[in-house]
Formats: sequence, structure tokens, C-alpha cells
Amino acid sequence: MHEYGITQQIIQIASNQAKENDALIVTRITLVVGEYSGFIGHSIQMYFDVISKGTLCEGAILEVEHVKAKWRCPVCKIDFIRKPLSFACPECGQDGEPTKIGKEFYVKSIEIET
Ligand SMILES: [Zn+2]
Repeated sequence: MHEYGITQQIIQIASNQAKENDALIVTRITLVVGEYSGFIGHSIQMYFDVISKGTLCEGAILEVEHVKAKWRCPVCKIDFIRKPLSFACPECGQDGEPTKIGKEFYVKSIEIET
């Protein structure tokens, strides 16, 4: 359910940006959502349609860019996307370590119309 709160914040950020730029509406918001960010893009999309009603974001396209989590091999130093039920490096078979890739969550861009 915490997607509800974060969606409110996203709409607030976008609306403020639009106001600061004397825009009439927000046309598109692009979000980056990592696989392990703790947020579900689909839920945000659902709440967005409801919460944006009556705001400058009403009717805007919410684009969600999903980022797959990556693991780093301590031996080869390469980042890789793990296979199901495995953490093994595709090069050497060593278990990888979690990286920051896949934990991101941020508003990448806001498009407005003046
Ligand atoms: Zn390796």
C-alpha cells in the first residue's frame, strides 16, 4: 500500500514543477523503478489515475522504466543479471554480490505544456 503515498508525492513534485514553469498541464512523467526498490510500478500506475484527478497531472502519461537487479562477481568484477534460483557469475560460476543496480527509485523526467 505504500505506493499510494509515493504516488501522491510524485504528483506533488510534478505539479510544483509545472507551476514554477507557468505550465498548464503535465503531459508525461517518467519514473525509474528498480526491481528491488520496494515499489511496484503497476500499483503506482493504478493510483496515479485516481490521485491525479483534478491536479495538473490529470491525463498525463506515467511511464515506468523497470530496472533489473544486477549482481557483481567478486572475481571477474562484471555486473550480471542473475538466473532464477542462482547467484552464479555467468563467466566463472562464483556467487555474485548485490549491487545498487535494481534498488533505484526516482523521477527521471517531467514533461510539461505551457
Ligand atoms: Zn565471475
